[in-house]
Amino acid sequence: MARSVPIPDGNKVFVLTGAGVSAESGIRTFRDANGLWEEHRVEDVASPEGFAKDPELVWRFYGQRRAQALTVKPNPGHHALAALEARLGDDFLLCTQNVDALHEAAGSTRVIHMHGELMKTRCSDPACGTAPFHDERHDFGELPRCSCGALQRPHIVWFGEIPFEMHRIKRVVQACDVFVCVGSSGVVYPAAGLVREMTYRRSVGETVRTVYVGVESPDNADAFDEVVIGKAGETLPGLFAR
Ligand code: NAD
Repeated sequence: MARSVPIPDGNKVFVLTGAGVSAESGIRTFRDANGLWEEHRVEDVASPEGFAKDPELVWRFYGQRRAQALTVKPNPGHHALAALEARLGDDFLLCTQNVDALHEAAGSTRVIHMHGELMKTRCSDPACGTAPFHDERHDFGELPRCSCGALQRPHIVWFGEIPFEMHRIKRVVQACDVFVCVGSSGVVYPAAGLVREMTYRRSVGETVRTVYVGVESPDNADAFDEVVIGKAGETLPGLFAR
């Protein structure tokens, strides 16, 4: 019999997604092969130090990611989460670690990109006041520069940087009834630690539920009441009953 996770109308739901939810759309997960991400060492292409050392390599890497992102489509997992949001409205928030825009492409609107957005660029000088902007450029003759003269950089949270909107994310987690995590290995912090807030809330007598959905048990599996093993695109449609 198909698994079902009851979520009655009126429940407040927080969903955290990771690279696994986009895997069936053709975007490789982070940890597919021995710490290499699309054949690069993570620290070379996804850290401030890597950008300072070789901005050309970093822009080439993100240019390739952008070019690929323009060709992919949301899968049934993204659509199932958009349908859950359509039912729950403001009682729903989706926080994604993914920098792709596949949740929005599936119709999700209440989305936080805690690790940034692939199709945005900003000035690399923190003192420069210009806002991040939508940017699909992916083939650079020379490195892109801000009007202030500094290099522009991808609007991505790299290793060693602080994720966006952590206060808002924590507030919502502290008030939700159900915490759902999809396709995240549970090793990248602070995202992997968010579910611990639910453990704490339960320890002080609150009634909360936590569910993980993914192809393998995550590192932080002990924090989940239920671990549903399966691909996001096959498992999520029909998983959430009233
Ligand atoms: P991760 O690569 O560490 O873990 C992915 C998890 O998804 C694994 O546990 C894997 O078992 C699971 N998985 C693989 N295929 C799946 C499927 N079809 N259905 C369900 N689960 C599946 O990714 P993470 O935990 O998100 O953390 C790594 C970091 O990598 C994040 O910060 C994220 O920003 C970045 N990243 C993003 C993208 C993207 O934007 N699509 C892609 C790669 C990496």
